[in-house]
Amino acid sequence: MKQPCLLSTDGLTESILNIQTIEPDELDRFDSRNTSFWLVDMSDPIKGWKTVCQLRSNLYPAIYLRPIVYLMSPNIIPDEMYHAANGHIKAEALSESALEAWTSRLEPINLWIEKLDNPSTVKDTNIAFRMLRLIACDDKEIAPSTTTRINSGFVYPRLEPLFTKEDNSVFDTLNFLLEQKLINSHFISKAHFCGHCESAFLNFKETCSQCNSEDIQSDDIIHHFKCAHTGELSDFRNGDELICPKCERTLQHIGVDYDKPSIIFNCNQCSHSFQEPEIQATCFNCGRTSSPENLIHRTIHSYTISAIGKNAAIYGLDTLFTRIMENKLNLTAMPSFKAFYAIEASRIQRYKVSTSSLTLIHMENMSDIYIRMGGRSKELFEELSIIFRTTLRTCDVITALNESTFFIIMTETSSKHAKRAIERISERVSELLDNNLGFTPEIKSEIYPIDENTELDTTLENFQRKHVS
Ligand SMILES: [Zn+2]
Ligand SMILES: [Zn+2]
Ligand SMILES: [Zn+2]
Repeated sequence: MKQPCLLSTDGLTESILNIQTIEPDELDRFDSRNTSFWLVDMSDPIKGWKTVCQLRSNLYPAIYLRPIVYLMSPNIIPDEMYHAANGHIKAEALSESALEAWTSRLEPINLWIEKLDNPSTVKDTNIAFRMLRLIACDDKEIAPSTTTRINSGFVYPRLEPLFTKEDNSVFDTLNFLLEQKLINSHFISKAHFCGHCESAFLNFKETCSQCNSEDIQSDDIIHHFKCAHTGELSDFRNGDELICPKCERTLQHIGVDYDKPSIIFNCNQCSHSFQEPEIQATCFNCGRTSSPENLIHRTIHSYTISAIGKNAAIYGLDTLFTRIMENKLNLTAMPSFKAFYAIEASRIQRYKVSTSSLTLIHMENMSDIYIRMGGRSKELFEELSIIFRTTLRTCDVITALNESTFFIIMTETSSKHAKRAIERISERVSELLDNNLGFTPEIKSEIYPIDENTELDTTLENFQRKHVS
């Protein structure tokens, strides 16, 4: 059974309950395969938070994806700090059974981590990919919290510790993942932000439509039914009573004697009277004043992982298609491909009885499939694999640079026959994509006879330089 590991910052909580304890600085060298979660002592919230950031900004999936449980003293920590963790245990309730309960509750996340290739030894260097994995490993909604600590006013507590700087990176990265259809968004709220500094802290006010002064006051307009006189409330006021300045009757009941059809504003600076004040917003952060139409309007969302995102989080975005191909097509790794090429070239050279062809294919805009097809990308990639499999023979050797570039050794195949095979692949790929997406990819291909004059590395490099941007 997996065990929790206590992250110690000052040694105070060390040796409680005999659980494994490490210093945050030792994380990179720590084998976390048998760790169920990180227990982070929050008795000093600033130190505790620093530890959370160290955990989440680590590059090894086995470290940064591992669940975090707070060990809470009776002190209060801000919401946005609290929601960054997967749970908490109160210090007074700390026991073997409490730790075991959390270990089993968090097991799904640890099982997810185990699906990854070498999560303890291969670093994830891309921040968007780390965010995607963090969202995917715990199949929960990523919801925003409001905060006064930073100018944006909204934070995503679970994602905050991934970033070391306080800027718009969290929002930008979420937008990127959303554009790629790797996550889904759900409406939470709408908000205004300063057009200059993007601060959410704005002072909205009504101002004089003539001189722009904020020094204005509003008054109700009274309409006296009996005599039809209409005037400002202040003109009717007489001690505790309302008396009509025109007919001098006392007004008793709203709706019976009189009504209030509208409001009037009076400017204390220029004496202008008006019914529609100008709305202005002044930014608490940069001090600039602007009208609402010059503010940034944003919809605030919560996010969940999408079907395509789930796959991409495990296999990596670039390799999704090649993974499917690998299963369906027996894709060969590049070193083996090169070794096979060398053998084939010398065989041809030696016996001089047959020809084999090296075929290079690049299909443009294949990454659009992720974007346009969303969760159905996987099916489409499977269809593409079938096209390759049924057109090529089992003795052909295929390697893929990524989802759009393939190199194929077609044994015992003349350039003419290779060309025909490529034409068939092109036709069927175009038809498939046209039916599903309404576009046909541009397919570039080159065919070379395999012999000792065709130098593989240079040929592949030239092809990539020419066709793959
Ligand atoms: Zn005025
Ligand atoms: Zn009257
Ligand atoms: Zn501002």
